[in-house]
Amino acid sequence: MLSIRLALLGPPGVGKGTYSSILSKELRIPHLSTGELLRREISMKTELGREVESYVSRGLLVPDKIVNDIVAKRLCASDCANGFILDGYPRTLPQAVFLEEHFPLDKVVLLQASLETIIERICGRLYCPNCGETYHVSWKPPKRDNICDKCGAKLTRRTDDSPEVIKRRYEEYLATVSPVVDFYKKLGKLVPFRAEGDSQILAYSLLRELSSSRTEILVEK
Ligand SMILES: [Zn+2]
Repeated sequence: MLSIRLALLGPPGVGKGTYSSILSKELRIPHLSTGELLRREISMKTELGREVESYVSRGLLVPDKIVNDIVAKRLCASDCANGFILDGYPRTLPQAVFLEEHFPLDKVVLLQASLETIIERICGRLYCPNCGETYHVSWKPPKRDNICDKCGAKLTRRTDDSPEVIKRRYEEYLATVSPVVDFYKKLGKLVPFRAEGDSQILAYSLLRELSSSRTEILVEK
């Protein structure tokens, strides 16, 4: 049975969503975004969801214990039996320690890109407010300037974030994630990956890299 448990780490704007969805499709394992899991829990009004909401509504970070419980609940579902891709988790050392104890990962991919690349990527994003299609001025431009290829609506910028805000978020992310990166490096599970360029294409190189190591994983199990 083919099985691989992955997590993708990387700063906001590095393209985690694109990598996750391509890997998920090709490896036929679910892509689990923590943000989505938390939002779903809130909308289902579960006990955990109400706890999450009490933090989110006050603008506070959701404590590790609650995030761990929500992720663990999801990982027990039958579609995760052959593996999964975590996106946005683990973000802190206690989360990583918890995960290693209960659902040990095979590989942890660290997507790396320079601040300049991230700024270009985030600031160039365009979005169709009508159908939700996304574009990028450099990598995926619409056929006609500022017009959605699919529905003809006028496109808007995805973000109002200034380069300063992006820089601050980038540095905050690196500081937060560095204990997590060290943790997986020591375990020999870290796969650093240069994510500079078209993430659609790069995702397939990453897939090849993971597939070659997947054989070892299979032999071990
Ligand atoms: Zn559209």
